[in-house]
Amino acid sequence: MKVRKVTAAAATALVLSLTATACGGDGDSDSADTGSGSGGGDKIKVGIKYDQPGLGLKEPDGSFSGFDVDVATYVAKQLGYDADQIEFVETKTPDRENALKRGDVKFIAATYSINDERKKAVDFAGPYLLAHQDLLVKADSDITEGTDLNGKNLCSVTGSTSAQNVKEEIAPKANLKQNSSYSECISALQSGAVDALTTDDSILAGFAAQEQYKGQFKLLGLKLSNENYGIGVKKGDTETLNKINTALEKMVSDGAWEKAVTDNFGPANYKNEPAPKIGNIVK
Ligand code: GLU
Repeated sequence: MKVRKVTAAAATALVLSLTATACGGDGDSDSADTGSGSGGGDKIKVGIKYDQPGLGLKEPDGSFSGFDVDVATYVAKQLGYDADQIEFVETKTPDRENALKRGDVKFIAATYSINDERKKAVDFAGPYLLAHQDLLVKADSDITEGTDLNGKNLCSVTGSTSAQNVKEEIAPKANLKQNSSYSECISALQSGAVDALTTDDSILAGFAAQEQYKGQFKLLGLKLSNENYGIGVKKGDTETLNKINTALEKMVSDGAWEKAVTDNFGPANYKNEPAPKIGNIVK
């Protein structure tokens, strides 16, 4: 496998100003229920994933759990909304830019990597977590770090950075199955329909730790990319973006970020990177 392995330490940290944009308006014309006010009875709509254990998961009882859910809840509070004023909306990987453009949600916290392509369509607060692309394989798989993945059956999600990296760099000749969610890929991996599932290590660790999958899979720990998770907002909504950045800084300084890490990544034994500095994108 000819891949450029990256590490946070080796990567160059580029400090970008994510706040000042020439096209920033004075707020937008969102309807009240997407969260245009400062609380006080309003609801705020927030985009998350529904099927990523440890990050964004809709539980059978209708409640939500995960690191992204905790970050979103903390941020919403700082914007003036209590937990019971949040309406979570599922924003799947390929739908995120459009959900923000249409104003379906005020912000998105959904394992959403900041990249140049997406920045043409939306603005990002953060980053608030650094993850890395990795491979999940069956426990008895002979795929290792040195395996050429060209010709292998891989699974990822349409519109994800992981699918793009496979096609452009990691294994352009792999048979890449692109589903609409990672939960479909995990079933394909379990049944043997694919040889490996590839996406962020944070997501893969969460799946592998699920009770029904215990002992069935192994995570290779390859660090194939740097995935800087940002909170997506509508392009030009500088006011919300600045407030979210302030909220994220506070979440780190008051210990709530670390608590969310322990609560959500502890059970999966996911060894996360330290809290990123706002505006510090690891390339
Ligand atoms: N973080 C990557 C991305 O934004 C993969 C995870 C996801 O699909 O949400 O594409």
